[in-house]
Amino acid sequence: MTFSMNDFRLDGQVALVTGGSHGIGFEIASALHEAGAKVAFNSSSERSRERGLENYAKAGIPASGYVCDVTDEAAVAQMVKSITADLGPINILVNNAGIIKRIPMLEMSAADFRQVVDVDLTGPFIAAKAVLPGMIAQGQGKIINICSMMSELGRETVAGYAAAKGGLKMLTKNICAEFGGANIQCNGIGPGYIATPQTAPLRETQPDGSRHPFDAFIRDRTPADRWGETGDLKGPAVFLSSRASDFINGHILYVDGGILSTL
Ligand code: NDP
Repeated sequence: MTFSMNDFRLDGQVALVTGGSHGIGFEIASALHEAGAKVAFNSSSERSRERGLENYAKAGIPASGYVCDVTDEAAVAQMVKSITADLGPINILVNNAGIIKRIPMLEMSAADFRQVVDVDLTGPFIAAKAVLPGMIAQGQGKIINICSMMSELGRETVAGYAAAKGGLKMLTKNICAEFGGANIQCNGIGPGYIATPQTAPLRETQPDGSRHPFDAFIRDRTPADRWGETGDLKGPAVFLSSRASDFINGHILYVDGGILSTL
C-alpha cells in the first residue's frame, strides 16, 4: 500500500451525521466538511433542524438538514433516499444521535430503558441498514458509531445507556464481520467525558460552592487533567472516515484523555 497525506482527505464524499445539529455531532460534521466532505445531518424536530442550519451557516458550512427520528425505520430510509438525491450516495455514516437517562435502576421503568436502547442502539442499526446497500453498490463505505466509556464500564443510574452503548460496540464488530468483505469499515469512537450540554449537570457547582463530586472524580482520574472538548473528536472522526484507516475495522477508538487506563 502506498500512502499519501491525501489519504486523509474526504473530497467528494457524502457524510450523514445523525443528531448533527449541535454538540458532538455538529463538531464531527464540521471536521468532515473541513476535510472535503459534503455533510448532511438530521434532527428530531423542525425547530432543532432550523437551529442546526443556523449553526452551520454561522460556521460558514454548507449543510443539508433533515427532520428524522432515528428510531423510525421508514423515516430513516426516506431520509437516506433524499440525501442520495440531494447530495449523492452516502459514503460515510456517523451514528451520533443519542440520549441518556440518569435514573437509579430500581426506579427506572422498562419504558425508559427501552427508549434509551431504541435511540442509542436500534437507531444506529436502522441507519446502518439504510446506508449499507448503497455502500455495497459503491464498493466502499465507512460507518462510525459514537460509543462511550459506558461501552466498557457500568455505573450507577445509567443501566439503559450502558446496555445500549455496550451493545453498540458489539454492533460495530458485527457490521465489520458481515460487511468488511465488501470494503466497508465500521468502527466506533468512544468519547471520554466531554463537556457538552449532555454532561453539564455533572459539572454544576454544588450549593455549598464545592465542585460536583463527579467533576472532581473525572479531573482526578483523567491523566490529561481535564474534561474532553468536542474538538478532541474531530481528528479521530476524520481519520476513521478516510482511506488512511482502510485496514482498521471493528475497533473502538477511545478518545478519553487516558481515563479508561486509570479506572
Ligand atoms: P446532545 O444531547 O448534545 O445531542 C444529541 C443529539 O442526538 C441531538 O442532536 C439530538 O437531536 C439527537 N437525537 C436524540 N434523539 C434523537 C432521535 N430520536 N432522533 C434523531 N436525533 C436524535 O449529546 P452530545 O453531543 O453530548 O452526544 C452525542 C453522542 O455522543 C451521543 O451518542 C452520546 O451518547 C455520545 N457521548 C457523549 C459524551 C459526552 O460526554 N457528551 C460522552 C460519550 C458519548 P435534537 O437536538 O434534534 O433532538
